[in-house]
Amino acid sequence: MGQVSLLFNEYDCMGCHACEIACKQEHGLGIGPRVVRVLERAPLFKPLFCHHCEDAPCALSCPEDAITKDPKTGVVLLDGEKCNGCDAVPGKSGAEKQETSSCKVECPAHIDVQGYVNLAVKGKFQEALQLIKLASPFPSICGRVCHHPCESACSRDQIDEPVAIHSIERFLADLDLNADKRYMPGIRDKKEEKVAIIGSGPAGLTCAYYLAQEGYNVTIFEKAPVLGGMLTTGIPSYRLPREIVEAEIQLIRDMGVSMKTGVEVGKDITIPQLRKEGCKAFFIANGAQECIGLGIEGEGLDGVYSGLDYLRQVNLGNPVRLGENIAVIGGGNVALDAARSARRLGSPNASIIYRRSLEEIPSRPEEIAECQEEGISINTLAQPVRFIGKNGRVKAMECIKMQLTEPDESGRRSPEPLPGSEFTIEVDAVITALGQESDWACLTPECVCTLTEWGTMNVDTLTLQSDDPDIFAGGDAVRGSQSVIEAIADGRQAAISIDRYLSGQDLRLGRDRAFKAITEPQKEKYDPAARAQMPRLEPKKRVKNFNEVQKGFTAEVAVQEAKRCISCGTCCVQACSYDVMQFNHEVTKAVKCDLCVDKRGRNEIPACYAICPTRCIFWGDPKKFPIGIYQGL
Ligand SMILES: Cc1cc2nc3c(=O)[nH]c(=O)nc-3n(C[C@H](O)[C@H](O)[C@H](O)COP(=O)(O)OP(=O)(O)OC[C@H]3O[C@@H](n4cnc5c(N)ncnc54)[C@H](O)[C@@H]3O)c2cc1C
Repeated sequence: MGQVSLLFNEYDCMGCHACEIACKQEHGLGIGPRVVRVLERAPLFKPLFCHHCEDAPCALSCPEDAITKDPKTGVVLLDGEKCNGCDAVPGKSGAEKQETSSCKVECPAHIDVQGYVNLAVKGKFQEALQLIKLASPFPSICGRVCHHPCESACSRDQIDEPVAIHSIERFLADLDLNADKRYMPGIRDKKEEKVAIIGSGPAGLTCAYYLAQEGYNVTIFEKAPVLGGMLTTGIPSYRLPREIVEAEIQLIRDMGVSMKTGVEVGKDITIPQLRKEGCKAFFIANGAQECIGLGIEGEGLDGVYSGLDYLRQVNLGNPVRLGENIAVIGGGNVALDAARSARRLGSPNASIIYRRSLEEIPSRPEEIAECQEEGISINTLAQPVRFIGKNGRVKAMECIKMQLTEPDESGRRSPEPLPGSEFTIEVDAVITALGQESDWACLTPECVCTLTEWGTMNVDTLTLQSDDPDIFAGGDAVRGSQSVIEAIADGRQAAISIDRYLSGQDLRLGRDRAFKAITEPQKEKYDPAARAQMPRLEPKKRVKNFNEVQKGFTAEVAVQEAKRCISCGTCCVQACSYDVMQFNHEVTKAVKCDLCVDKRGRNEIPACYAICPTRCIFWGDPKKFPIGIYQGL
């Protein structure tokens, strides 16, 4: 028997639900789950069914080995004996198992967190890594620097503390980095089309990673002498060692992506020239690499540095010594990293000046704690008003105290100066870190794409396509300076769009899936268990060098910590791009369509296919299906 598949044409589906009813009757599912579902979603109906995906993430994610893919037929099969419903409780939370765990919902890249954490529990470290890599090529990087919204949303918090998810991710990824043979995803047949990517930060590299898997001929153009964008020139190595970034980039290079450093698009080569050379699509991922100034007196004095320029110098191996007393203005990543780098480069009195309170500071609590442990003070509710110089060099800084207004309608409190509260501090150097913007030199007059009033690229939020149909953009270039995981999410979405654009498919179809997070996870059967703590280099030792501060989990700690996951969703549901696996109050095990594969052997046809009045269901050999009816995610 050859490959078997099922296909719905959602344009022709009239939402009669006849296929659902026929399927339930045929399989004796009664009031239980429906393996085929038709959702009403104007202007179309949305049939949900098992796509028997080539890479079958549900099979990969199942810690019980209950789901397997038959290589002969391509059918994904569920073994009801092995399925334990990931702890689904009859009559209690079974229906909720159909929803998505909040860690996955909150992750901008929607990584199947529960899936990989549960695979880690079973010691299936390779499978766990593969699952992560379906949504992100950078688990070692994210395991170190991601702001982990997954942890902020973790249901375990309702019992004691969130699972240390990103430390588990780091453990899994580092294991692979050090393996004799690293995991590399499969690559489809080579395609002719060339794609150019502008910028080698996490957005550009991610887009390259997923396009390379589709077989495209991808070239990344990078104006800096090194690859990685802010991962290399922004984030210091005591948080993100260079060899980690290089190792994750190397895999993308090994997948056949060409990477050209020292080439600035817009100056050394232009988009129109690249079009002439045969590039059929572009992904602009140029980041937000320019510092925004303060616009106050004395900003041009020697000894006043922009945070990004300072960090770039340090990270490119040209450490700038600033003197003893350093003030850093700002409260984000750049400010903290600049202060901590200066501390390591011989400035014992580095302090941070931030105009709001610690409650509003954008940096993560753990980073603030590490900063304070290193002896860096954070002076809140203060702002510089001018820099005072002597012989052209900054010597002091006049500041003013700030107070926060009452919350406005959005609940936000704004800082305003406290009249008459000016004070002066002596400084040897100042670093300003107040935000970043993009440099749009890559756009030439031939490009019709436009910018927003904030200086970011205007794109369709679902497809990331710009006003130039062949130009897509994402990451900081579109969002303003944000985070690594958002850049990764955009890179993958852009790759999906570019693939669809180049193969003449609908860019939007099936991509507006809204995740609904589980609200009432089962908690009763779990006892409190303390969250594992990340071992760190002692503050006294770490301020002398750029060695990595966080040391990572051992396998034992990672598995122990993974066991704290309360499996608030079900692994196969989390992994499915099409929302297909079914649970409800009566059925605590998964139920899914097996394409009535046994019927095919008997030359019979499935009930859903037989009953459809609009003939919008196709079943059988996928090679015989009409092309372009449904494109999956
Ligand atoms: C100091 C610092 C610390 C940070 N810490 C964290 C953190 O802990 N966690 C977190 O999640 N995020 C952090 N961030 C933010 C994060 O690094 C960015 O959000 C992310 O790197 C954005 O990715 P990107 O690919 O969009 O752009 P970038 O990483 O900025 O990459 C853009 C690349 O495009 C290149 N480029 C620009 N113009 C051209 C051109 N015309 N031709 C060719 N190449 C060009 C640039 O040289 C650059 O390499 C930090 C940022 C900084 C600066």
